[in-house]
Amino acid sequence: MEIIHVSAECYPYAKVGGLADVVGTLPKYQQQLGHFAKVVVPMHRTKFLYENEWTVEHKGSFNMGHMYFEYTIIREKTTKLDFDLYCVDIYGLLDRENVYSYDDDTERFTAFQIAVVDWINQWEHQPDVIHVHDHHTALIPFMMQQCHAYSRLSKVPTVLTIHNGQYQGWMSWDKSTYIPAWDTWQWGLLDWSNTINPLACGVKCADRVTTVSPSYMEELTESANGLEQLFRMERAKCTGILNGIDTVVWNPETDTYILDNYSLKDEEAGKQLNKKKLCKDFKLDVKKPLFIYIGRLVAEKAADLLPLAINDSLNQLGNKMNFLILGSGDAQVEEQLTNLKNSFTGYYNSKIGYNEKLSHQMYAGADFILMPSRVEPCGLNQMYALRYGTIPIVRSIGGLKDTVIDFGEPNGYGIRFNYASVWDITYSVHRAVELYDDKEKLAEIRKQIMQIDNSWETSCEKYINLYNAIRQI
Ligand code: ADP
Repeated sequence: MEIIHVSAECYPYAKVGGLADVVGTLPKYQQQLGHFAKVVVPMHRTKFLYENEWTVEHKGSFNMGHMYFEYTIIREKTTKLDFDLYCVDIYGLLDRENVYSYDDDTERFTAFQIAVVDWINQWEHQPDVIHVHDHHTALIPFMMQQCHAYSRLSKVPTVLTIHNGQYQGWMSWDKSTYIPAWDTWQWGLLDWSNTINPLACGVKCADRVTTVSPSYMEELTESANGLEQLFRMERAKCTGILNGIDTVVWNPETDTYILDNYSLKDEEAGKQLNKKKLCKDFKLDVKKPLFIYIGRLVAEKAADLLPLAINDSLNQLGNKMNFLILGSGDAQVEEQLTNLKNSFTGYYNSKIGYNEKLSHQMYAGADFILMPSRVEPCGLNQMYALRYGTIPIVRSIGGLKDTVIDFGEPNGYGIRFNYASVWDITYSVHRAVELYDDKEKLAEIRKQIMQIDNSWETSCEKYINLYNAIRQI
């Protein structure tokens, strides 16, 4: 089967969050099952772009409203990614340093989608399925089915995966002319609450919709930033398929980013060496449990609760633990997390920014990882942490609920709490400190979690079954 993934991010080419990890991994596993999986992304000015060789595959042009654009499709020349990676270059629009957050993101991602559809429309053959990811690519099913110029593609099966339903790509109706000619009586497919809502449009038009965990699917019918009713109505074609992790990239036995590689056989000594290095680098106390947070510092992740929760935990338990934070996002949270260093020197540190290498070192060297998220469609950090023997402390929501069982439950191994509140976090930190002091239990849990299989195999098969089901419609 030929599967075309279209996405804004793809690891290791361009990564902002979990979307990149998934789009950089799922195709590899699909290839291993004997399929041809390809990934198409916008051309961002990333290190990977400059460090690799590319070949021109196609050149074309299109109109978007009153604007005219020329685009070029380039392909990465080697096979190092285990799948073909294509970038769409549109001069002046897509060749930027960052993936998101430009004032003209609407124009950028609409143009990207038009270029992708325009290119595929010119192939001699048709792909078996087009799999789009999040709102940046969610207009593609509509374009294939409704735009006159692309009617050749109207029967090609489409899947939309929602990695994050909070962001929907809203665009005002005066930009409707951006989309290549379509029958205006179909406007309802684009509309949600009097605005063009690309994510809603994708939900309406894609043959199947998936979310990245079963619990998140259920949650979207109750809380979806305004789309709850739509998810309830379209429930029949929606499925939750849990993400997997790339067990080659995320493997403490072979990870080249970490100081000391370790496996089940020597996990205690291995983790201790990595912890020592991390504590030395960040001036923390290696004898005390180390709690980490890695991620975007945004309300969705409840990062705003971290400063007070850390302050309260350290005050209440008399500096019985260390905290190390890696992330960036909300300026106020960044500032609070930086200022905390003055109050708890020797027990607390933070690094504001994005650092892939340090993240691996933290998964390896930490004892516990905190994830108090208000919304968590799947969450990958807890799965990486498990593989590195780091115990996840998570709020019971979305994918966190589907992947972590509290150690108080039968076969449990993590710590789960119900509310995104400072009290729930500090109480869970107390429980973790007690667990840390029970060396026998701690060692048993570490061994248990390092053996949990969160690889892509099972989920990959579920996607293939889904594609097969819609190919037969
Ligand atoms: P989301 O996609 O919502 O941000 P996920 O848990 O699905 O959250 O994925 C987050 C991914 O991004 C993980 O691979 C995590 O290690 C990585 N990550 C997030 N913030 C940082 C950071 N500041 N530095 C390094 N890696 C980060």
